[in-house]
Amino acid sequence: MRTTIPRIDLGDIVRLRKPHPCGSFEWEVVRLGVDIGLVCNGCGRRVLLPRGKFNRRLKAVVKKASGE
Ligand SMILES: [Zn+2]
Repeated sequence: MRTTIPRIDLGDIVRLRKPHPCGSFEWEVVRLGVDIGLVCNGCGRRVLLPRGKFNRRLKAVVKKASGE
């Protein structure tokens, strides 16, 4: 099955479908693996999301760490 999920790298800034309770939609990717580690750009809270859940919540990659 083809997927349209964008490639994610460490340091990328991503936007999720739902805001964090602090009001921010944007997160920095700090860990890649079975779980995806994210740090909220609004309040600095760190969370781990299972990859499947992360993929469903991901709306867009805002900024690539590589500067693309
Ligand atoms: Zn937050």
